Amino acid sequence: MSGKIHILSEDIRNKISAGEVVERPASVVKELMENSLDSGASELTITVENGGHTLIQVLDNGNGISPDDLPLAVQRYTTSKIQNVSDLFQIDTLGFRGEALSSIASVSEMVLHSCDGDHSGGKVIVKDGIISDTEPAPDIDGTQISIRSLFYNTPARRKFLKSPKVELRKIVETVRQLSLGNPESNVTLIADGKTLLQTQNEDLTERINSLFDPTYGENLLPVSMDKGDFNIKGFIGNLNLVRSRPGEQFIFLNSRFIKDRLLNSAVYSGFQSLVKRGEYPFFVLNITIPVDQVDVNVHPMKTEVRFKDEWRIYHVIKAAVMESLKEILDTVPSFERGKSSFLFNTGQQTDSFPFQNKPPEGYGGVSNGHSHVPCMEN
Ligand code: ADP
Ligand code: MG
Repeated sequence: MSGKIHILSEDIRNKISAGEVVERPASVVKELMENSLDSGASELTITVENGGHTLIQVLDNGNGISPDDLPLAVQRYTTSKIQNVSDLFQIDTLGFRGEALSSIASVSEMVLHSCDGDHSGGKVIVKDGIISDTEPAPDIDGTQISIRSLFYNTPARRKFLKSPKVELRKIVETVRQLSLGNPESNVTLIADGKTLLQTQNEDLTERINSLFDPTYGENLLPVSMDKGDFNIKGFIGNLNLVRSRPGEQFIFLNSRFIKDRLLNSAVYSGFQSLVKRGEYPFFVLNITIPVDQVDVNVHPMKTEVRFKDEWRIYHVIKAAVMESLKEILDTVPSFERGKSSFLFNTGQQTDSFPFQNKPPEGYGGVSNGHSHVPCMEN
């Protein structure tokens, strides 16, 4: 009697992985840009059509892929970034799981065109789960990956795609995140023939100015702290940049954009009584810690991480933010609540400036931060 269990085909396995990695066009943009950055590229051009529904293309000037490696690159669990189990605990690249290209290719039509400088250019095409042989292609100065007809063969996913306008907004958000974390790279985003974003090699303040409103630069306070082998560098916005919605909070851990409520709450907590629940200050913080202090192998999207000692990082971030706000924090108690907006030269949001001598219960001044973690939406 034969059993009921069978091994799934490679195509289904890839589609299962794709379910986790490729949520929408912006996730494709993220994976492709991360690959470009890992390849040492200093120039990235992202071209999308129809909010990524019809085309997503990333061209870079990185190290490229040799013709022999091209068919391997688009298979599952193939990577040039790790080799042994021990490498999993020493990850210093953005990618390492070897599943992004295969996942994306399983739900789209992919053309991978590359040149590694030692061989002439080559390309492979992946369609309906079939990988073509490597074909000769023009020499280029790196890699170009083109994704067409995303989710053409997964109607359930396609149904969840939002309008091109909404998907484009997500793509812009993703490109912004990655270019904030890599101010030394030149990033261009072209959507439906229009250049939406173009940055040059610049420092972080200039990058913030070019990605946000140019007034942001006037409202930044530098953050810089070394604590043992932890380093925190970046900027927080002063109270002019406090918003009532989240979305402008950026934490990069060893160059990776991460989403971590606890670390966000460490920043909010450093603002003490200057912000209250439902108010979100601007920040871009680059945290550098030894790679063995953090596990990035938590989720296929790699934006969640696990720390060996999260409270240590929490306290260092909080201290760094408080240090940077020191002057303001020292001044605030001497003002009456609501009368202090001239400090920050704005007419905007006057009544939402929460100068309180006493933080709301369970928020702001708490030292362990736990009590207000759940209310942070970011
Ligand atoms: P991972 O990034 O986890 O290694 P991917 O599936 O994203 O897995 O990519 C597979 C491999 O293809 C990478 O390890 C890398 O060697 C190669 N690769 C992908 N994109 C690029 C690129 N833009 N430039 C150079 N090599 C690339
Ligand atoms: Mg990758």
